[in-house]
Amino acid sequence: TMSCLTAMDAGDALTAYVHKTPEMALEQARAADARLKAGDAPDMCGIPLGIKDLFCTKGVESQAASNILRGFKPEYESTVTSKLFGDGAVMLGKLNMDEFAMGSSNESSCYGPAVNPWRVDDRELTPGGSSGGSAAAVAGDLCIAATGTDTGGSIRQPAAFCGIVGIKPTYGRVSRWGIIAYASSLDQAGPMTKSVRDAAIMLRSMAGHDPKDSTSADLPVPDFEAALTGDIRGKKIGIPREYRVPGLRPEIDRIWTRGAEMLRDAGAEIIDVSLPHTKYALPAYYVIAPAEASSNLARYDGVRYGHRAKLGAGDGITEMYEKTRAEGFGAEVQRRIMIGTYVLSAGFYDAYYNRARKVRALIKRDFEQAFAAGVDAILTPATPTPAFGLGEMQSADPVEMYLNDVFTVTLNLAGLPGVAVPVGLDADGLPLGLQLIGRPWEEGDLLNHAYVLE
Ligand code: GLN
Repeated sequence: TMSCLTAMDAGDALTAYVHKTPEMALEQARAADARLKAGDAPDMCGIPLGIKDLFCTKGVESQAASNILRGFKPEYESTVTSKLFGDGAVMLGKLNMDEFAMGSSNESSCYGPAVNPWRVDDRELTPGGSSGGSAAAVAGDLCIAATGTDTGGSIRQPAAFCGIVGIKPTYGRVSRWGIIAYASSLDQAGPMTKSVRDAAIMLRSMAGHDPKDSTSADLPVPDFEAALTGDIRGKKIGIPREYRVPGLRPEIDRIWTRGAEMLRDAGAEIIDVSLPHTKYALPAYYVIAPAEASSNLARYDGVRYGHRAKLGAGDGITEMYEKTRAEGFGAEVQRRIMIGTYVLSAGFYDAYYNRARKVRALIKRDFEQAFAAGVDAILTPATPTPAFGLGEMQSADPVEMYLNDVFTVTLNLAGLPGVAVPVGLDADGLPLGLQLIGRPWEEGDLLNHAYVLE
């Protein structure tokens, strides 16, 4: 904890932390020491973590990197953080992210972007998003591990951009209670770590049934670490042909092939699979996620939480809502609210939201059919490109940024677990990541495949 606190201060240039909690860290570390000395401490005991700003942490600013939640200090602890702290983990501070987890570059944060510790010459690169601060802090050694959340790739894409491991568990594996909601039917929290083993250990601490989240699964949490045998002999790995999209960089294609070879060398069988509805995933996601977001964000009205605009003499409640929300939400969040409200409106509901829901069911069925045919895991790239430069994607067309999520949103729509694992560097020395997609509730087996790639 002491060396992480020092590193954290020396690493300010990465803008990874948005609130530091050194006093709390020292207090938790002392308590952890006592438990370790007493000799029966859980694996997470004394491990210094960074916590994404999306998690409500009791008495500590939890703003989802948004101005509308300025000064919000929850009176409660999210289930995930309370489980981690219960196991003796230490919180170093809150980590930067895209505002309300909307984005793929951390540039929509009210604190300004986090910076990727990897760079090419003097070019500053994005750590990805939305869990950009988490990935930057882990890769930059500003913590041992971090929490992330993933609605459409926000754990896996930044993990790939920063050369670390990140797993999005099966929907329902980890409680969403106390995590500021983006799109509730897609959101899952997960660990972002330096190794597959760390991910297995930390996921076990985060996971488990929670009566406070009605979508949390009442299933036992296996020992994911025990699943890391490295033995994948006889397993079938599917390579989905639809993921060979236009714009896929040759270096990504190369590591995809290399990853398949590594799995084959370890005794797995590589087979071609088809997930025919893949091309509809991105448009369906960018209807469903904003729809749910527009509803979830309705609660930020200037009354219940955080910021309220200064009002003029004749202003009534409508002006209060309008001014507060116009000031409090950034441009990307406003765009999502408008899209979401539009696709849910009476005249367009069937054309957009209902159609997207049908597409979602078809995407889920594609995966079910692949798994029913005996596939154990599916191997894809995590992202179509390595980390891009800060500012490079802020063109007039937000869709360009959305295209970065082409490989990651499919499994949020299907509720499946997925892990990003670093597999080599590109010619500039930047990390490249692959994604493995697993059967529901089999995160241990999934992590074991990732273990072979590591
Ligand atoms: N980039 C995606 C979005 O902006 C994913 C975000 C996420 O997973 N939280 O919606």
